[in-house]
Amino acid sequence: MNQHARIEHPAIAFIDVAAQRRRLGRRIDDAIARVLAHCRFVMGPEVPALEAELAAFCGARHAIAVASGTDALLLALLAKGIGPGDAVFCPAFTFAATAEPVALLNATPVFVDVEEASFNLDPVSLERAVATAKQRGLRPKAVIPVDLFGQSADYDAIAPVASAEGLFVIADAAQSFGATYRGRKVGTLAPVTTTSFFPAKPLGCYGDGGAIFTDDDEMARILRSLRVHGQGADKYDNVRIGITGRLDSIQAAVLIEKLRIFPEEIVARDRVACRYHDGLGDVAMVPRVADGLSSVWAQYTVRLPAGRRAEVAARLHADGVPTAIYYPKPLHRQEAFRQYPVAGNGLPVTDRLAAEVLSLPMHAYLDEPTQDRIIDAVRRAVAG
Ligand SMILES: *Cc1c(COP(=O)(O)O)cnc(C)c1O
Repeated sequence: MNQHARIEHPAIAFIDVAAQRRRLGRRIDDAIARVLAHCRFVMGPEVPALEAELAAFCGARHAIAVASGTDALLLALLAKGIGPGDAVFCPAFTFAATAEPVALLNATPVFVDVEEASFNLDPVSLERAVATAKQRGLRPKAVIPVDLFGQSADYDAIAPVASAEGLFVIADAAQSFGATYRGRKVGTLAPVTTTSFFPAKPLGCYGDGGAIFTDDDEMARILRSLRVHGQGADKYDNVRIGITGRLDSIQAAVLIEKLRIFPEEIVARDRVACRYHDGLGDVAMVPRVADGLSSVWAQYTVRLPAGRRAEVAARLHADGVPTAIYYPKPLHRQEAFRQYPVAGNGLPVTDRLAAEVLSLPMHAYLDEPTQDRIIDAVRRAVAG
């Protein structure tokens, strides 16, 4: 342990949820107190109010608040009737929640490689994965591109492959809500978009939460039914098999307050990313946002030569700088998912990235002196 560094400086947070909590102060307490006063804890007035604000924020016709980002994906797949024998294409370089709902429905996740520059789904590998699925006698049904680390997948490049193969596109925007793609906002880039309000995401609540976005009225109607046990005309009329997939009123109340400061936070996150870019671009492979896109920087992830990552991370740790690896083991290498097919002969880019990525502290409240400490520490650690 580097005791000296610990005493001189306060600990650096990887994501500082407490700093935002201090800023919001009584506004959050008051919002929660209002729910405690009216006692409509489930589907209270905050839920439709939040949905209207989320839809307005991103320009989608419908926003459906749900219990988590994982439930959002599960509900979207349920709405499309995905089941046994169906192939659903997902990148392997993502969090388990992208592929898990596919497997839960006894459909087959088929893993696709990603592009080196963006960390996101490679349309060429998607074509290969469709061929693999067909060879195995599976029916290609849907693709779930992931907007990893806050930047959108290349939906304009994915759309022609998806339409040629008859794939329904579900955008997993758990990390990218608030980002833009060629003048369009995340939430409107695919027929259905899902997001997560897990506390560590760019827009987080104080527990689990998520949302689904769509412009399709019929899809929205089915999703609203599915999130409350497939209800029909009323609560005790069940017309399809659904789940308990609602967002709590208290979480909706928290999110309404957080959404007010979210645009400012997006600007602050981008400023932090720019300073990392300027401070580290010559010593590490820094992330690049494609032309015409913006990122909400769910993570700021650099790449280091595979053989040096552990040593650099250990030096940073000794200097009081927390880091994280997203994701050390891609899904096709996980025990839970190993049995599922991968595109073509393998996923070389995914495997390479898993060995090289390192994420640095990133949040809207990272002040310049603290960030300079991080940048100096990375420069020293990389120099060895
Ligand atoms: C966080 C995350 C999810 C799941 O969200 P939860 O709200 O935790 O269920 C899904 N996909 C990706 C890419 C994520 O990062």
